[in-house]
Amino acid sequence: MIVHPAQFGHQLSLNENPYGPLPSVRAALTGALVEANRYPEFLPRRLPGLIAARLGHAPDRVVVGAGATGVIMHILQEFVTPGAAVVMATPTFDGYPLLTDTVGGRVVAVPLTHDGHQDLQAMSAAVDHHTAVVVLCSPHNPTGTCIRHGALAEFLERTDPSVTVVFDEAYIDFVPPCDRADTVALVDRHPNLVVMRTFSKAYGLAALRVGYAFGSAPVIARIRRWQLPFGMTALAEAGVRACYAAEDELALRTETITRECGRLTAGLRELGYRVPTSAANFVYLSGCPAELDRVRAGFARDGIQVKHCATGIRITVGDTAATAAVVTAAR
Ligand code: PMP
Repeated sequence: MIVHPAQFGHQLSLNENPYGPLPSVRAALTGALVEANRYPEFLPRRLPGLIAARLGHAPDRVVVGAGATGVIMHILQEFVTPGAAVVMATPTFDGYPLLTDTVGGRVVAVPLTHDGHQDLQAMSAAVDHHTAVVVLCSPHNPTGTCIRHGALAEFLERTDPSVTVVFDEAYIDFVPPCDRADTVALVDRHPNLVVMRTFSKAYGLAALRVGYAFGSAPVIARIRRWQLPFGMTALAEAGVRACYAAEDELALRTETITRECGRLTAGLRELGYRVPTSAANFVYLSGCPAELDRVRAGFARDGIQVKHCATGIRITVGDTAATAAVVTAAR
């Protein structure tokens, strides 16, 4: 039998949750499988209703999709006409440049600041009359840095309301509540703001493909026009319902990942690497090209899969064994 080294390494390239579904969530999913012969809802009503109730919003202010990726696709399909500009940081979540390209939009990429933050002044300066959408992420992928409430509020105040602002909170459940922007309040004030979230990360349901956006009812109605009939699985609804019922247990797992993130950051900094403080389930290691090449070779040798970016390496937080393996390989 040929043994591939990566099978014995660590899969740390996709910002997945290292823990499988809780027993109660697994039981709910197994229960839903019994009715796999039945179609799900034609267009999802119950699932967005469930999420909206959690947020304290009306159901018509939430749209669900095949992961946040699916919803992002529909946002770009609706708001980006061919040749229109989409302003985003670089590097950012690969889905944004990729899907902008798919819909015929033009990526306007604004470099991060030297300490891994999105440069909000430069991003505002990059917005012009060709701009259809601006994308901000908090925490940002790949650096894990956050945008504070005040900075987001100011950004929205100076952005023309005809520009749709996508505020991506895929990793928000890892952020302490006191550090989160009050996006639920901001969407009331700014009808051009759309907030993205997902069940793929802290909730650990990446395989089920459940993401959502919330915003003003008219904007959400426009995004919903692109939904695929029968496009959301019955498992998605069962999984989300079970996760909401097990929120306390899941929060303990999130706390474990956050603690491990702190250990990984400290371990890499002790070795002399520059690592921004991350509020998510990954860290970003940057350095000079020669230094990065050496680390990349160490990870490849030890079968540690990470995400390579032009300016650094993004490493997903795994369990304690994964942290030890990463620090050893980076040494
Ligand atoms: N937004 C950001 C910032 C991400 O990092 C990701 C996944 N890497 C997504 C959205 C998409 O997540 P999903 O489609 O699994 O919900």
